[in-house]
Amino acid sequence: MTTDIIAIDGPAGSGKSTVARAVAERLGWSVLDTGAMYRAVTLEALRLGIDPLDSDAVVGVALAANIRTRPRVSINGRDVHDEIRSDAVNVAVSVVAANAAVRAAMVLRQRALASEEPGGLVVEGRDITTVVFPHARVKIYLTASLDERARRRGDESHESVARRDHADSSRDASPLRQADDAIALDTTGLSVDHVVEEIILCLKNTTSN
Ligand code: C5P
Repeated sequence: MTTDIIAIDGPAGSGKSTVARAVAERLGWSVLDTGAMYRAVTLEALRLGIDPLDSDAVVGVALAANIRTRPRVSINGRDVHDEIRSDAVNVAVSVVAANAAVRAAMVLRQRALASEEPGGLVVEGRDITTVVFPHARVKIYLTASLDERARRRGDESHESVARRDHADSSRDASPLRQADDAIALDTTGLSVDHVVEEIILCLKNTTSN
C-alpha cells in the first residue's frame, strides 16, 4: 500500500472534495473521491430499476461494478460524471451507503486502489479515517455550519443536505463520526487556501516527528 495517505472525512458540503483536490495538487499526489463510488453504484441501481432498499440486488450491482473516479466518474464503461449529482441520486445514495455489504465491497476497492498508487493519495469520504485507512499519516475531520454547507452545495437543497447528514451519521454500518485521533477543522468562513495550508502543516508535522 502507498504509505502516504491523507484521509479526510466530514458531512456534505464541508469542503472535502475541493480541499482534497487542492491538497493533492499542491503535493503532486492523487485523489480518491469515495462518495463518487457510492453515487455511481446508486445511479446504476436506479438505471436498472432496482429499489435502493432491495439490499441483495444493490449488493449485486456493487460487486459487479467496474468503477473509475478519474479523470471522470464512470461505471461499467459509462460516463456518469455529471449524472451522479442528480436529485434522484442525492435522495437514494444514503440508503445504498447504509448497506453493509455494499460498504464492504467499496472498502476493498478503495484499499486496492491505494495499494496500486505509486505516490501519495488524498482520500475523502465518511469512513476513511475510521474504517478504510485508520492508520493514515494525516487524519482530518472537516466541518462547517449547515447554512454554509447547504450554500456550498448550491444545487442541493438545505433539507436534502440535512437529511443525508442525519442518515450518514445515524446508520449502523460505519456511521460518519470524528475519529478520536483526527484533527477537526471547522471551515466555516475559511478560504480553501487556508484549509489547505492547515492540512499541509499537519503533514509536515508528521514528517518532523
Ligand atoms: O461525498 P458525497 O456527498 O458525494 O457522498 C455521497 C454519499 O455517499 C454520502 O451522503 C454518503 O451516504 C455516502 N458515502 C459514504 N461513505 C463514504 C463516502 C460517501 O457513506 N466514504
